Amino acid sequence: MTQYIDNEFISLFNRQKDNQFKIGNSTYKERIRKLEALKKALEFTYKDKIREAMYADFKKPFLETDLTEIYPVLSEIKFAKSNLKSWLKHQKVDTPMALLGASSYIKYEPKGVCLLISPWNFPINLTFGPLVSAIAAGNTVIIKPSEMTPNASGVMADIVKDLFNENEVALIEGEVEVSEELLKLPFNHIFFTGSPQVGKIVMKAASEHLTSVTLELGGKSPTIIDDSANLGTAVKRIIYGKFTNAGQTCIAPDYVLLKAELKTEFTTLFKSKIAEFYSEKPENSASYSRIVNPKHFNRLVSYIEEAKQNKSDITSGGRYNGDDNYIEPTLIFDMPEDSKLMNDEIFGPILPVKTYSNIEEMVSYINSKEKPLALYIYSKSKKNVDFIMNNTRAGSGCVNHNLIQFLNHNLPFGGSNNSGIGKAHGFYGFEAFSNRRAMMKQHTFGATDFLLPPYSNFKQKLVDLTLKWF
Ligand code: NAD
Repeated sequence: MTQYIDNEFISLFNRQKDNQFKIGNSTYKERIRKLEALKKALEFTYKDKIREAMYADFKKPFLETDLTEIYPVLSEIKFAKSNLKSWLKHQKVDTPMALLGASSYIKYEPKGVCLLISPWNFPINLTFGPLVSAIAAGNTVIIKPSEMTPNASGVMADIVKDLFNENEVALIEGEVEVSEELLKLPFNHIFFTGSPQVGKIVMKAASEHLTSVTLELGGKSPTIIDDSANLGTAVKRIIYGKFTNAGQTCIAPDYVLLKAELKTEFTTLFKSKIAEFYSEKPENSASYSRIVNPKHFNRLVSYIEEAKQNKSDITSGGRYNGDDNYIEPTLIFDMPEDSKLMNDEIFGPILPVKTYSNIEEMVSYINSKEKPLALYIYSKSKKNVDFIMNNTRAGSGCVNHNLIQFLNHNLPFGGSNNSGIGKAHGFYGFEAFSNRRAMMKQHTFGATDFLLPPYSNFKQKLVDLTLKWF
């Protein structure tokens, strides 16, 4: 990275810093107008360009682009539009009797100049989704999208240039070095979506300036099927969750935990649903995406080859084609505990199934791993669901479905520890980009005025009463 580019970043950062109060003092109506402009760009002006970019990047079907890239941002905008006025109101809170004569409230103020680093797997959704929250909260933003989906990044750069002055929102394309340079700057908040490994780098860099962070990370999300579950429905939904975007989804089911005796029935249902969704030859299906690049393709192929070497039971799929970064939807039973497949986040269309004999064994297996981003349970037994929920930890989850928790903006979205720090979406996204400024106002003579020096026996008695009653 040359000093020249470095200076450009500093200059951009300083211009956004100078502009932050103008942007931060914008009314809710002005912010909504910006969000409406973004909505129009995604829904109409740039919709076809986005679809084409996503197809060029990894053959993402148009329908999936509409549903998983454009729709979540539109619904985030819609939600913000309906709620922003109330989010921006000072939030009154009670004041204790000991502070009689004062009132208290929380003012949500913008953090200031924010950095938004996004991943490649849902580039539009995971860049513009957080941007909606940042704009709603009144911040200026520098965006660094992933270098791995250059077509999507190019369209986003055009949209940002079209809609915003760069002193308010700027998008910088480039390799990892660009993020590294940007991370040196004293941002007021960093919103990062990506892997736990890079999350640690981001947090370390942020600590240099005590910049607050939201880290939306990944991990291995377990999917449990107990023997009370409707297996047909479970398999159908798991296939949807796992093979949409060819498994390149942070909250996709990473692996399944299944009673050993259900293996044959699960495999039969799996094969028939895959054929129904993607035809007998998913390679020819217009509904099935590709792996983003040869690096990730080779990583995923190494898992399949490892399974073959270990003589694990590949009960469905297992074929691949490097010409097109195509990997067949693949089902593998009983991989060794120390295999890469059972330890790395898979992030691709390979579904390992681990069999278990009782729920306690399964729960202790889950708890031997890092806290997942999501945990899914397929069950009709309230007792089992309660037991699993009360004895595991995860960022989010669903009972009898997967992925859909992402789409409800009334819910906070994010991980816990290794799968993330902080929350996104709806009010929680607005909150991530806001500082909760604690405010008190003294209206009249206050109770504390009675306690000022010089101290006397009478004042001691007042303090004694305060300790006892207030
Ligand atoms: P990544 O961590 O490799 O990259 C994410 C971003 O960080 C990219 O913009 C990249 O340019 C940048 N980056 C990479 N290395 C960097 C470094 N050394 N210093 C500074 N910046 C760097 O992640 P990815 O491969 O783009 O995405 C996949 C990961 O993201 C998976 O772990 C997945 O689970 C996670 N993810 C999480 C969510 C969520 O909402 N929690 C959503 C999507 C993806």
